[in-house]
Amino acid sequence: MSQTGDSPAAAEPAETGRLVEAIETLLPTLDAFNRFDDVGGTAARRDRWRRALDTPLPQQGEGLDEVLRLLRDVVIPNGLRIGAPGFAGWVTTQPTTSSTAAVLAAKVAGAQRHWVTAFNLLETVAERWLAELLGIPSDWQGTFTSGGSTANLVGLGAARQAAYERVGHDPSEHGLVGAPPGRIYASAAVHHVVTRAAAVLGLGRRGVELVPTDDRERIDLPVLRDALAAGERAGVVPVAIVASAGTVNTGVVDPIGALADLAEQHRTWLHVDGAYGGFGRLDPRVADLYDGWERAGSIAVDPHKWLAAPLGCGATFVRDADLLRRTFTLEPAAYLEGSAGTGPLRSTFDHFGLEPHYDHGVDQSAPSRGATVWAVLKEIGAEGMRERVVRHGDLARHVAARARDDDRLELYAEPTLSICCFRYLGTATDPDEVNAEIAARLRSETRFVPSTTVVAGRYWIRPCFINPRTELADADGMVDAVVRIGDELTAR
Ligand SMILES: *Cc1c(COP(=O)(O)O)cnc(C)c1O
Repeated sequence: MSQTGDSPAAAEPAETGRLVEAIETLLPTLDAFNRFDDVGGTAARRDRWRRALDTPLPQQGEGLDEVLRLLRDVVIPNGLRIGAPGFAGWVTTQPTTSSTAAVLAAKVAGAQRHWVTAFNLLETVAERWLAELLGIPSDWQGTFTSGGSTANLVGLGAARQAAYERVGHDPSEHGLVGAPPGRIYASAAVHHVVTRAAAVLGLGRRGVELVPTDDRERIDLPVLRDALAAGERAGVVPVAIVASAGTVNTGVVDPIGALADLAEQHRTWLHVDGAYGGFGRLDPRVADLYDGWERAGSIAVDPHKWLAAPLGCGATFVRDADLLRRTFTLEPAAYLEGSAGTGPLRSTFDHFGLEPHYDHGVDQSAPSRGATVWAVLKEIGAEGMRERVVRHGDLARHVAARARDDDRLELYAEPTLSICCFRYLGTATDPDEVNAEIAARLRSETRFVPSTTVVAGRYWIRPCFINPRTELADADGMVDAVVRIGDELTAR
């Protein structure tokens, strides 16, 4: 449309005020949602909310009030109740109050993590606090990411840079064309995002050698030693050994110290995937399993898991900050005013902030995530987080004890962290099938939602306790429900 001198510019159609009113409209429904008493409601109403929401693109906007009405009456009540105390599925949960408030604050007042603002400072403060909490050396470079997938990608990207620089090749500058093939060594129980990271980094999914595990799902060290030696003979570049600090199937921790030794012997990089279990280090019963992780090149953790920061918050810590910057540096751009400002601060924009975050990962624009991590740690402290991790470890041990003590149940193994794999046996002739049916009925009929998994060729019920709202009665209720449904199914 052409603008002529005498036709005034149209007003902005989006409401930019009325924020308090908008939030107040939603608060009672959010509060009701957080009581989690509408179990199964979202699934039961699926046709209704689909019809209300899956509409054609409006040609004329319907206005803020209609948006708020739909959010309040249709969207929020039909959300995902993973904060419910009975939810122990996958490795995911809903944030607690302080970080939910912080994310709202950041959306309004800290819309970018850059420049010199209080939110920018909190990126750095939260990195420092996390490192201290987890026993990561204070001179490592931390960086927040969108989650564990990117956190592992960033760590392994730095590993790739280090490995190829050692053979006289700069992969960040030249790619991998003409370079010898590289290999990442990880256990067969490693998270799939590591394989995908290898694909993104040009090493290829087949560039990950999945080393078999021992009888407890930890990487088999003798097999890994052979694999490293074979790789060396074949002239492949050893890019990294990945230690899983908390596998997602069974929650075991690879022998980190021994892997650090091997990485040193083979002049390669140790990357620790602690997306789930990094915070497990806070539990004194298992803390020594993490000894040696300060000898790694990089560690990935996921504050949006056990710390219960709002989803979209992972973090990577890399020993060599310069290397990380060589890996992910952004080309200079005139409009970004990227040069670190010195002298007196006259405006927010005089300086990009305390750290060049855009040089430490794959995002340029990014939300302020540090504020959410800061909020949780400010609220509950290191001690509060330790209590949570120990309590969740207790819940897994409690489920294990019940599975051991009940003839109808089978325990896979004593839990290391907060995952406990168990299953119903009773008189079942096909336990895999019975437990799949139990899991399905738990989800549709009860408030208990554990995951399931297959380990050692058998199908297991797999609660993973990271949910701040889960208590002993919830863990007990879940075991009771498994037994009750199992009895019913096998009595037929
Ligand atoms: C969750 C998880 C990931 C992936 O993290 P996202 O935050 O889901 O992207 C990677 N590794 C482990 C061990 C995990 O638990």
